[in-house]
Parts: sequence; structure tokens; C-alpha cells
Amino acid sequence: MVQRMFGTNGVRGVVNEDMNTDLALQMGKAIGKFFNGTVAIATDTRVSGDMIKAAVSAGLMATGCTVRDLGVVPTPAIQYHVKTDDDVVGGVMITASHNPPKFNGIKCIDGDGTEMPREKEEQIEVLYASEIPCQSWNDIGSMETYGNAGEDYIDAVLRHVDVAAIRKAGLTAVLDCANGAACRTTPLLLKKLGVRAVTLNADMQGEFPGHPSEPTAENLRDLLYLTKAVNADIGIAHDGDADRAVFATNDGSFVPGDKSLALMAKSTVLANGGGLIVTPVSSSSMVEEVVNKAGGKLIYTAVGSPIVARRMMAEGSKFGGEENGGLIFAEHQYCRDGAMTIAKMIESIVKFGPLLKQIQELPVYYTDKRKIECPNNRKADLIEYMKGKFSPGNKVDLTDGMKILFSDGGWVLLRPSGTEPIFRIYSESKNKDLAEQRCGEFESAAKAFMEDSE
Ligand code: MG
Repeated sequence: MVQRMFGTNGVRGVVNEDMNTDLALQMGKAIGKFFNGTVAIATDTRVSGDMIKAAVSAGLMATGCTVRDLGVVPTPAIQYHVKTDDDVVGGVMITASHNPPKFNGIKCIDGDGTEMPREKEEQIEVLYASEIPCQSWNDIGSMETYGNAGEDYIDAVLRHVDVAAIRKAGLTAVLDCANGAACRTTPLLLKKLGVRAVTLNADMQGEFPGHPSEPTAENLRDLLYLTKAVNADIGIAHDGDADRAVFATNDGSFVPGDKSLALMAKSTVLANGGGLIVTPVSSSSMVEEVVNKAGGKLIYTAVGSPIVARRMMAEGSKFGGEENGGLIFAEHQYCRDGAMTIAKMIESIVKFGPLLKQIQELPVYYTDKRKIECPNNRKADLIEYMKGKFSPGNKVDLTDGMKILFSDGGWVLLRPSGTEPIFRIYSESKNKDLAEQRCGEFESAAKAFMEDSE
């Protein structure tokens, strides 16, 4: 069997350890052999971006591909470029998203601009493990540059919101770009929307990411403080490659990703008079409650944004997304889209009133999350055991791991990590104590099983 290289978000590793130039060169050749045409390439702002890009590009050219270098742009901007330029048959984004700065990664983009489906990644893995023939000296590829992909992307986003109404509202935003890929594009978006922007960590030459890199409340303290201090209408933060955006309200509170997901789902359903919304089984039932009330219907998938995007395409769904701030708007493109999320969220403030008020109107659910260790070869047995123990009398959903749905509306999801020897336990209920108690019960039962079977 060929070694698996691609995780849920591309090939990732620590630079000059597992993510080195040998790997990047061979990966470039494999991707070049797979695409065999003009391939767009871009990076986020990591110091290793140029090195990995150069090695991947050399591999692409050795196999005869033309490399189109877009420079530093958000992941959804290269995706938009690949989707809209007929000469481009695929793309490569050099990024490790929200991972710490010592990491970097290689992510492939399919010819239609979507994240590559697993079957195609497997084909690239097979090529990677083989001896890849290179072109003769006079048939190798060349390199061209295109510097307008970020602007093209922002102009496209603007076509999907009511720019005149937003400009008239005269809003203020505080924006934290994590010194990442959105440093040029999101300030431009806000300027074109007539939103007065106070920026933080918006320096491409600055140290990436300017704060610990995952966009959580804890890591975004400066943003929350400043949003409150200037009483901005919205606080905005990106992860490193800006496929995600998260928000803060004017009083400086962090908006968890499931709440922005629910608000955007609701406005999509209202704007379309119904429709299907797609999200993974790990998302809060709060989203489902909001979607049902607005007259829509929710479809659950396994975890992973490419899975959500492909299900949206199959079902003709207009909106879907994950609870980590990765939202997908079909009217623009089938991928997580940071700038589009921001434009739509700002438009919703203009249409429906202050963000804080919209958040306060959402139903309240409580969650508890834990993780337990479990070797990969024991994962199936653990699921079987837990199913036998907890399924009697309750509904079971096996879309991803095992989700037990209790009759009171609460649920517990036991999900194996695709990359690590662990299970994640998610518990949710409208009753805080019950959410914690059930999470604890699942954790103890799983631990006991693991110990007994050792
Ligand atoms: Mg990302």
C-alpha cells in the first residue's frame, strides 16, 4: 500500500524536518504529472513559503507544467483563480493554515477550484511513491507571474453583497489578519465596502502570526479589547491562509464559529425562502434549530470541508460550513471563503441589526469536549463496544464515528481522529450539567474498555 501523505488539509509538517525540499520537489513532480498543464501556485506569509514554493515549482516544470505564481494570496483567492481561468488546470497552495509558524504544507486545488477529493489525492500519492519521468530539456515548463489574483477575488466577492447599502451604513471594523495571507485583500474589501477599518497584525513582513495562530478567543485578546475600545460594529480575525473568518461583537465578546455558522445559514434560508444547509455531524444542534425555524432543512455529513462542499454541490445547497469559521457560499465558490464570510456578515448587520443582538437571539446549547487515546487498530472495536452500550433506546448516527441522539435533544459524538491515535468526544445539551455528565460517562466507559482489553 502507498503511504498516505495528504491529511484533512493537505500535506503538512515541520519545515526542514518532514516538510523539506526533497519532499516538496517530488510532490511537485507528482502534482505536475497529475495535472499536466498550467498550474497556479501561491503561499501564505510563512518564512518557509518561498523555499517550499520554489521546490514544488521546480518539480512542476520538470514534468512539463507551466507554473503561474500568484504570490501571497488567501487560499480562496487561488481557488477562485483556478476556477475562473480556463487556461489553469489546477492549483497548489503552500500553507499550514492555523498551525504554528514552524509548520508548512502543500494543498492541491482541483481544476474547478475546489479542494481535491480524496480519490485524486490518492492518485498523486501513487505517483509520489514512483519514479516520475521528467521531460526532455526542450519540453520542460516555464514560470509566469500574475499579481492581480487577490484583487480579482475581492471584486468577485463584492458582486454578492449590496455594496451601496453597506457603504451607506458607515460601519467600523477592527480587523486582525494574523500577519497572514489576507493582509492586502481584506483591508481592500473593507475599503471598497466603505467600512472604516482599524487593523491589527496586518503586516506581511511582520512576524507570523502576531499571536498564537489558531483564531480562538484566548489568542485574539487584542482584537477583543480593541473592538470594545473603539466600539466597532464588528471585530474580524482570519486564520493564516484566510479561508476562515471569526468575529467579535461591539462589547468585545468572541463569537464562537457555530454562532456565525447559524447566522449565515439563517440569512441564506430567509433570502431563498427555504433550502438545504450542509454541515458536519459535529456542529451544534443550535444550527439545526435555527435553520428549521427559518423554514430550511439541515443535512449532516462527515467532518471535513471538502466533504461538506461536495455534498452541497450534489444537493444543490446554497450554503454550508464548519463550526470553526470555515463557511462556504455556493453563489461564489464551493470552498471555505474568509472574505465572502466577512462581506456577508457585514451585510447581515446592515439588514438585521447589531451583531450582538443577532447573537443574543440564538438558542443556547451547552457543549463539552474531551479526548481519549486509542490506537488506530482498536478504533473499530471501541466504536462497536460503545454502540452496544449506549444505543439501546436511543437513535444512532454513524455518519462519522458514532453519534448517539437522546430523546431530550442532547447528543454525544464519539469520533476517531483521522491522523492521531485518539477519539474525540463531543457532548451537547440544552442543560449544561447533562452535557458534562454525558461526556464524562462516555469518557469513563471508553477508558474502561481500553483498559480491560489491553
Ligand atoms: Mg485555513
